[in-house]
Amino acid sequence: MPEGDTVLAAANNLHQLLVGQPLVVGDLNWPSAPAEGLEGHTIVEVGAYAKHMLMRLDDDRTLRTHLRMDGTWRIVRPTAREARQVSGYVRAVLGTSQWTALGYRLGLLDVFPTEREAETLAHMGPDILADSSVPTPLLKRTAAEPQLRLAPRYADERLRVPPSSLTEQGARELAAGTIRYPAQQSGGRNAEVTDYGWRIGIARFAEVPPERGIGETLLDQTVVSGIGTIHMAEALFAMGVNPWRAVGEVDVPRLLATARANMVRSSLNYPKGRVIHVHSRAGQQCHRCGHIIEVAEVGPELKRRPAFFCPHCQPD
Ligand SMILES: [Zn+2]
Repeated sequence: MPEGDTVLAAANNLHQLLVGQPLVVGDLNWPSAPAEGLEGHTIVEVGAYAKHMLMRLDDDRTLRTHLRMDGTWRIVRPTAREARQVSGYVRAVLGTSQWTALGYRLGLLDVFPTEREAETLAHMGPDILADSSVPTPLLKRTAAEPQLRLAPRYADERLRVPPSSLTEQGARELAAGTIRYPAQQSGGRNAEVTDYGWRIGIARFAEVPPERGIGETLLDQTVVSGIGTIHMAEALFAMGVNPWRAVGEVDVPRLLATARANMVRSSLNYPKGRVIHVHSRAGQQCHRCGHIIEVAEVGPELKRRPAFFCPHCQPD
């Protein structure tokens, strides 16, 4: 299932290739979508918020999509056969004169006024990758959380830096809590972005019952959003934390920073940047200790998800 890093990487690609050129094709194959489609409009920005992709249009509407279980975006030239003979699995075709983006097996698609983004996403916890995407909803929500309020100069500037400009050092700084962008990457300013998404995430964890399991809590999108089973498992392995350990016994800031750093690295060089030690490796040897990786379920009834772990590196 795609996680926040996958969606952010896709959003960055689509942003680079589609923004600023009028859509010559804008077909939405979805029952509730506007029948007239999006042809003739221009995409002005593509952002990601956790697992939601937000394409902002020049008429102040937002096309939101979600990949759910197995959705994917593919970008091809308009002359490619795939763009000319569109498969029945494609839910959105967005084409400029240069590129055609095809949204396969999308699990959600809707179009609404851009000003409603914040309320549409309000049920979700802060995006673990916020600051590296375009966190408009988060900026709005932060104003309602005064103890965690942004430095005002960032709140109205909507400072946006493409994550593709991040270096390995940048990713480390990001994980540490702040990141400095050189002037040429941030619109002529030397910018230091406070890692507020991560800070709010830590605050949300403080509201979770301390006896709740850490694995299922990382997957709870209302606490922190964007983490799925892969990055849950890998962050817990990196920290040597058992997925069923109680939240109250875990160093949550370090854990979130670890998940975030893994996901930033992955989104910068997707999918090669993903480093997998335990996920989907049940029955194989642990890269660190050689014991056999196991898998079991975390989460409440009806929402059970697999958690892969090394019983030796991540003891009870
Ligand atoms: Zn191990």
